[in-house]
Formats: sequence, structure tokens, C-alpha cells
Amino acid sequence: MKDNKCFLYQVEDLVFSYTLGNQRVEALRGVNVAIPASSLVTISGPSGSGKSTLLNILGLIEPVQEGRVLFRGEDMKWMGEKRKNLVRKLEIGFIFQQFHLIPVLSAEENVRYFLVRQGLSKGEIKERVEGSLESAGLWEHRKKKPSELSGGQKQRVAIARAIAKKPCVIIGDEPTASLDQKTGFEVMELLARLVETEKTSVILTTHDAMVQSFSQQNIHIQDGTTCG
Ligand code: ADP
Repeated sequence: MKDNKCFLYQVEDLVFSYTLGNQRVEALRGVNVAIPASSLVTISGPSGSGKSTLLNILGLIEPVQEGRVLFRGEDMKWMGEKRKNLVRKLEIGFIFQQFHLIPVLSAEENVRYFLVRQGLSKGEIKERVEGSLESAGLWEHRKKKPSELSGGQKQRVAIARAIAKKPCVIIGDEPTASLDQKTGFEVMELLARLVETEKTSVILTTHDAMVQSFSQQNIHIQDGTTCG
């Protein structure tokens, strides 16, 4: 495989298994895919096919056991823990099905909280918090706590928190699954707009044809392998 920085990820012959007691569960049995930068990519497939496992490897949450994964041309197998932490902290934004917001903090404080650890100046933090709340359409709701927000608004806060990092990729495990179709559609419109305007890449697992309709590339996984 040629190392190519135009690709965000290059995945070759990726194999991954979990160990459960003395049993091995083969979650990925050979995944091959190249993901270009600045695109919206979905990962689809039946339940248990390996979608979340692949996403967790791309997000540096699970290690590369066998095969090769390049992140912007860098071989993930040779990244030490320190480097992985730095990449997760600075380059990758995460969004989740259940939002994972801090309940006692307002929308604005949720967005600011993780930025403070990034060593940015006060002015830069303020600019990023305000900018990301505005692009997520949350300005008027910025003082509200998660319990005062709808599901769609909570996911927007999570997206604002992710984009405030200015990451090169936002990774989400079924981020619209707990939202109704209309709200999920609006969240997808927001993510598609980010790809367009900020050139951020977005990679999502999904079961939903509506979510797939927004993608420039769909990776279909069946029994731990990429098909087609
Ligand atoms: P999907 O996201 O497509 O539903 P997963 O990647 O979650 O699939 O799971 C792929 C396979 O790995 C399944 O057989 C699942 O049961 C198994 N698996 C997932 N996570 C774990 C884990 N932490 N320990 C053991 N087996 C797991």
C-alpha cells in the first residue's frame, strides 16, 4: 500500500478479535478501505458485523492487532500511547448515540470544558466556543443545561463540543439512532454542512438509509469483512 496523505485513513487487511474468557471473538476478518479527507463516510452492515469495532480502531480506542491502518499517512501500529492521546485530543472529535454531556454544565460549559485542557489562550477558547455554538445553531440555548434541551439540541451540543476542537475528523457511533427521523435529518444536515464549510471529515456507523443518503462513501461490512 502506498502511503498517501490525501487519504485520511488507509486500511489494509485489518483483522481484530476480542478475548472473552478463553474464547476468541473474531470481530474483523479482513477490512480493506481507503477514506479520503473532507468527506462524509458511513459504515453500514448488520448488527454484530464489526461496524463499532472498525470505528473504535479508526478513533484510536482499540489497537491495530493485525493488518495496517494509516492515519494521514502515519502507521497507527507504531504510535505510542502518548502520540495516540495527542491525536485523540487534538485531531479526533467524538459524538455518541447517548450524547455523553456533563449534566451539571450548561451547553456553553460543556463545549468549553474539554477545550480548557488543550492549552489554548482564553481568547482562542472564547472564539471557538462561541463559533461552534453558533454554527451548531445553539446560540440562544447556550445557557441551558442538558435536561432543558431536546434530544436534537443535546446532539448539537455534542457536535459543537467536537467541532470546537477543530478536529480533522468527527467519529460517531450511530449518533442519530436515539433521535426521531426529522431531528436526525437536521443533525445530518449540520454534519454535512461542516464537511462542506470546514473540510472536516465525518465517519458514522449507521443502520439508517436516511443517514447513508448523506454519505459520499459507504463502507458495507458483513461478518467482519468489507464487501464490494
Ligand atoms: P456492530 O457495531 O456491527 O454491531 P461490533 O463491532 O459491536 O458490531 O461487534 C462485532 C463482533 O464483536 C460481535 O460478534 C460482537 O458480539 C463482538 N464484540 C464487540 N465488542 C466486544 C467486546 N467488548 N468483547 C467481546 N466481544 C465483542
